[in-house]
Amino acid sequence: MQIKGIARDTLDFILEASRSMAPEEFAGLLQEKNGIITEVLILPGTESSDTNAVLRLYMMPNIKAAGSVHSHPGHNRRPSKADLRLFSKTGNYHIIVGSPYNRQSWTCYDREGNIRELPVLDVEFEEEEEI
Ligand code: ZN
Repeated sequence: MQIKGIARDTLDFILEASRSMAPEEFAGLLQEKNGIITEVLILPGTESSDTNAVLRLYMMPNIKAAGSVHSHPGHNRRPSKADLRLFSKTGNYHIIVGSPYNRQSWTCYDREGNIRELPVLDVEFEEEEEI
């Protein structure tokens, strides 16, 4: 599945969650629909160290995910070795959010840890219903 981007509301949710969790870390798996990342599957009980957050993601059962997201407590958004191991495990879009958790303080990486573009899209969220 080709990913076109991430919904702006979803990104805002991620930034808000990262901000409210800080200095604890926020982590989750990204899920896409029709090529757009619109959902974050949040890890229950994420713990305070980066390694823990990432290890918990790593140990999640085989859930199909477009990638992952987690926050770092400081400004450094470079993936750690544990991050890279996780990246290679699931999906090809991995967001790391750093302080101060705004629209400029996140980076998307591919599974090898190279920075990649992830467009932010304005998407209307609609209920799927038959009329
Ligand atoms: Zn990390």
